[in-house]
Amino acid sequence: MSGARVFSGMQPTGEAHLGNYLGALRQWVRLQDEADCIYCIVDYHAITLEYEPARLPERVLDLAVSFLAAGLNPDRCTIFVQSDVPEHTELAWILNTVASVGELERMTQYKDKSAGMESVPAGVLNYPILQAADILLYRADRVPVGEDQAQHLELTREIARRWNRRFGEFFPEPQALISDAGRIRGLDGQAKMSKSRGNTVGMLDEPAEIWARVRTAVTDPQRVRRSDPGRPEVCNVFALHRFFTAAEPLATIERQCRAAEIGCVDCKRLLSEGIVRAFEPMRERAAEYRAQPARVREILGDGAARCRALAQETMREVRERMGLRSWRERTAAGG
Ligand code: SF4
Repeated sequence: MSGARVFSGMQPTGEAHLGNYLGALRQWVRLQDEADCIYCIVDYHAITLEYEPARLPERVLDLAVSFLAAGLNPDRCTIFVQSDVPEHTELAWILNTVASVGELERMTQYKDKSAGMESVPAGVLNYPILQAADILLYRADRVPVGEDQAQHLELTREIARRWNRRFGEFFPEPQALISDAGRIRGLDGQAKMSKSRGNTVGMLDEPAEIWARVRTAVTDPQRVRRSDPGRPEVCNVFALHRFFTAAEPLATIERQCRAAEIGCVDCKRLLSEGIVRAFEPMRERAAEYRAQPARVREILGDGAARCRALAQETMREVRERMGLRSWRERTAAGG
């Protein structure tokens, strides 16, 4: 992957949670030593649906602290806020002109999000175009995504191909780096993990809060009594243990579960302890960064300066090829 450029983004919903960590940040931290990584706090995406403007800045800063706490190192990757680089929206408009409404309407996420809405904001439909602009603006060749975003990345590739056919080869077709975490179910065992559904654990939560959440986790629904044998393969608590428990104790839990030798509460207690241990250094790093918000702002400022330069370079070329940059010179040359 040496020489590759990686781009990925996350919405500023405040401090990151367990799903963000397992599905994205873990992989982002690994990638910063293998490629030129650009990680973005995508606040333009966050305004697609109803939100509280007064709380957005604080959520941006909280997510930046989570990035740094998770182990992203500003000396080894670039971290910035999307709205600090307005070229994202300019390129998004341009890409709107090569994408079709039909292909946007076919996106599964659009269908899910718009279902039941009385009036669908145009931003919900055009959301994947802004994602395409985010990636193509930096001419990224690799994009870490969850399975649920793979369709959007395929659309980005198609948009890049179409633009290149019309205006000349310029944008690379980005490849997906699908997270090895698979689909992380929430503690309710049903939906995707998210803060708004209240089915996750905050990455920077205190140990008592982590336990309070984990103890509510849904387990094997067929295991009603302590004496019932369990089925780890259908239990979400066991699925989470895979990330936080070493191979040997994990095998013991599996055996004891099948033999009804361990109760679900004890099993959850072990999981909670594993999460607390894994997140302990992150809580410490977060406390350090929270105590120096000026340093966090400086990191985001440096990241934005680098990204603005890259974005301006891309947009100069895009405008030139599309006849947008040079209209003044060309018409002047003709008298
Ligand atoms: Fe799930 Fe653990 Fe209960 Fe088995 S013992 S059903 S793995 S919580």
